[in-house]
Amino acid sequence: MRSVATLGSHCALQLLKGAKDEGLRTVLVCERGRLGLYGRYPFIDVTVPVDSFAEVAGQECRRVLAENKSVLVPHGTLVAQLGESEISSIEAPVFGNRRMLRWESDRVLKEKLMREAGLRVPDPVASPADISGPVIAKRQGAAGGRGYFVSSTPQEYEEKRAALVSDGTISDGEELYLQRYVPGVLAYLQYFYSPLHGRLEFFGADQRHESDIEGLARIPAAQQPGSGWTPSFNVIGNSPIVLRESLLDGAYRMGESFVEASGRLVGPGMNGPFCIEGVYGADASFTSFEFSARIVAGTSVYMGGSPYYGLLFGEEMSMGRRIAREIREADESGRLGEVAF
Ligand code: AMP
Repeated sequence: MRSVATLGSHCALQLLKGAKDEGLRTVLVCERGRLGLYGRYPFIDVTVPVDSFAEVAGQECRRVLAENKSVLVPHGTLVAQLGESEISSIEAPVFGNRRMLRWESDRVLKEKLMREAGLRVPDPVASPADISGPVIAKRQGAAGGRGYFVSSTPQEYEEKRAALVSDGTISDGEELYLQRYVPGVLAYLQYFYSPLHGRLEFFGADQRHESDIEGLARIPAAQQPGSGWTPSFNVIGNSPIVLRESLLDGAYRMGESFVEASGRLVGPGMNGPFCIEGVYGADASFTSFEFSARIVAGTSVYMGGSPYYGLLFGEEMSMGRRIAREIREADESGRLGEVAF
């Protein structure tokens, strides 16, 4: 029987529960310190203890994944902890398009794909000397918002950067990516593209709760300038957001354009789960600052089934279960190579 494998982190619980619900076996590659957590759940058939997640590309994992006919489902931890060459050396079929993960991790490629998709993206700021007005400084890769900061002048940028270097949050010489800060309502739009059905599905949307930027809003404005505080954007958790129904059509069109653009630039294109992340501004237009080319942790707010998937499928369907269903259907029809490679 086919199994679904993933790393013990991020959204592993909904992935493996979803696989179980679809009648597949489940394999967890798990760092030793996390075994206790995952041992509490009854739907994990095989656990492979490792000292570091990078071992997923190593010999022992290779053997277990082959033995269990596993399809590996990548998530944010895999992207954050494995380099491009390690990801491409994984022998097991990887769900989605693993080549897209490189485009997710590289800021320049990321922006290129978003522009190709016709998404409105915030203007990049080439150098700190060009800062005039609020700019967000970001680290490369899937840093989860830790060490990001906002500044409005070159001097403020240098001061905040120096403070983060001296407290060890970012390293000296680390290159940061600067982008115009866009005010509005944040929304992380979650999608699934099925090559089996030739269909883009809108799964739902979430918001991220980021520390400690959220705390800033609770301090009276007059006290903020003297606080000497450089808030970060470290994701702590997520909550659901329901978009106005009049925004849904636009959300579908953004998802479809993204799939088409990825087909032109990163053949065979995006398949499986992905997320377009951004801000609805005062005129309700969407500016996107990011995408994730794999499942995002925010889909776990709908672990018991997304409302939109309830409408589409008439049953409770999490993103984990949707992925497992695609794997099962692809496997049964001899098309696994189209959804995992
Ligand atoms: P990212 O790693 O690009 O997803 O950014 C982490 C967090 O920083 C996001 O969840 C937002 O809260 C914030 N953020 C990133 N880019 C922007 C932007 N251009 N304007 C406003 N907020 C942003």
